[in-house]
Amino acid sequence: MPLWQNEIVKIDSKKIVAAAAAARAGSVSPYSKFKVGAALLTQTGEIIGGANVESASYGLTCCAERIALFKALTAGQKNFAAIAVVARCDGGPMPCGACRQLLAEYAPEARVFIADSDDLQTVKTFTVRGLLPHAFRLAP
Ligand SMILES: [Zn+2]
Repeated sequence: MPLWQNEIVKIDSKKIVAAAAAARAGSVSPYSKFKVGAALLTQTGEIIGGANVESASYGLTCCAERIALFKALTAGQKNFAAIAVVARCDGGPMPCGACRQLLAEYAPEARVFIADSDDLQTVKTFTVRGLLPHAFRLAP
């Protein structure tokens, strides 16, 4: 039985985490060497991956979660069931505040799976709403 009312697609956390781990190979992180992969599961069952991209002007760097989200949005996807984020750090990489804001706007119902790339079997599960309660909203 689905946990979320609008859940359409079956959510296989291991599969999404594996996709995020695979997407991590695309990381462009020459400065920090901190490679992050993310994978979004759409409500139609598509999985769209992304990885972090760094700039010499550090503030221009973009996280894997936002790269995956921007790829998905610009490909016409609008409904997301889950996102996984993977990097080599103890406990896995928690999304930064900027990514939480974007996820709250475009994937508010999504589940969030977090894993250390050295231990993909241990997956922490959150919700976007739980990670960013009282998110900023602006009516169009
Ligand atoms: Zn981020």
